[in-house]
Amino acid sequence: MDLHKLSGWEIAGKIKAKKLSFEEVFDYFHNRIIKFNPQLNAVVRWFDKPLEFNRNSDSPLAGVPIVIKDNICLKGKETTCASRILKGFVSPYDSTVVQKLKNAGLQILGAANMDEFAFGSSCETSCYGPVKNPWDKTRVPGGSSGGSAAVVSAGLSPVSLGSDTGGSIRQPASFCGVCGLKPTYGKVSRYGLIAFGSSFDQIGPFSRDIQDCLYLLNIISGKDPKDSTSVQAEPLKNLSVQDISGLCIGVPKEYFIEGLSEDVDKTIRQALSFFKNNGAVIKEISLPSTEYSVAVYYILASSEASSNLSRFDGIKYGHREKAESLSEVYFKTRAKGFGREAKRRIMLGTFSLSSGYYEAYYLKALKARQLIKEDFKAAFKKCDLMITPTSPTAAFKIGEKLDNPLSMYLSDIFTISASLAGLPALSVPCGFTSQGLPVGMQIIGNYFQEEMLFNLAGFYQKNTDWHKKIPQEYE
Ligand code: GLN
Repeated sequence: MDLHKLSGWEIAGKIKAKKLSFEEVFDYFHNRIIKFNPQLNAVVRWFDKPLEFNRNSDSPLAGVPIVIKDNICLKGKETTCASRILKGFVSPYDSTVVQKLKNAGLQILGAANMDEFAFGSSCETSCYGPVKNPWDKTRVPGGSSGGSAAVVSAGLSPVSLGSDTGGSIRQPASFCGVCGLKPTYGKVSRYGLIAFGSSFDQIGPFSRDIQDCLYLLNIISGKDPKDSTSVQAEPLKNLSVQDISGLCIGVPKEYFIEGLSEDVDKTIRQALSFFKNNGAVIKEISLPSTEYSVAVYYILASSEASSNLSRFDGIKYGHREKAESLSEVYFKTRAKGFGREAKRRIMLGTFSLSSGYYEAYYLKALKARQLIKEDFKAAFKKCDLMITPTSPTAAFKIGEKLDNPLSMYLSDIFTISASLAGLPALSVPCGFTSQGLPVGMQIIGNYFQEEMLFNLAGFYQKNTDWHKKIPQEYE
């Protein structure tokens, strides 16, 4: 049986009906990793047997295999954020999301490759080497959760978890032709997620089938006493995909700009016409502060990163360089342990926070963040949700942007605003470019309106089959 063509909930159904055993399912995907990972480099660590899980769970994903991004702590396993500095660090505890997955009966297969410390949009900054896009191995899978997106796209696991600070779930989801959700800030506990930008970071699900994304979100979300920014919310109801008539979809005009590829533009407009033909109201809206988002994000997220990464000094975690004195340990470990992009972020952030520059950069960026939030607040009075392209282009070539950080940063231009505002946003596959590369549309909702995003995506998936396409080699 081609288990990799089934959704997670279908696999769980077969296990429940005793048509498949936990072990058969685990072995099937474990073997696919062994077979295909050498060409994709999407998984950095995989296990011979699943991590201990609850065999009696009645969750809709009980028994389903999952891959976890390498910045989410797994008890007793190395967790490295794809950085040399954390090589050898074995987490003494499980992150909250991992605990919840184990309770819900999911079988953890392994850890996904990523950009070092989640800095990047291409998965080229990993200390394990770049991840390849299953649709075209000369191209990047997106980043920073590129490994998590690639495993689902190539059918090495039905679902996975990633993390999103400025687009790291949505952009790789769009490059790899799968669904990926960044939940509302606070929806999912960050306990055990190695921090990048603490006021942005959210863990979220990847899947091909949107129903799987919803189930996974229900499993991992909720108030956690160990993360004071997490909040309690009702679990989402099952998909309701019958009708979208009267739904008002806002289309921010600032997202259809120069630099948006023609193919992407065309594909998104086709999806919009589809919604319109099915009774939705499409309304042009404006988010006037959008032009500041990239600058604001790279100041704030780097500032938070420079502070969060100061704990990696060779003493407590991971790798330590030999040296004559304590300060030399710090210098040598950090100099050898961090890659170029991590150093760039630390320097940018430290600069923005330093006295004399703080007001001009960090504080100013905080004020601009507020403007961006207010834009959304005003816009959501005029529409129920928004649709934009997830990224201005489809997957680019490996190496194409590595030496040009600015052009790399601009590939997040459409995902960053929702991150600054803390809003939920979902990328859903909606077609292909003329070169056969997947395109994703981003659906942005108001705070805690994930249900609305899923229902729209569910309606779309019921009537289209983009999400069922699998790259030929992995059929
Ligand atoms: N690409 C963005 C960055 O480099 C976003 C990364 C992320 O969301 N973790 O910061």
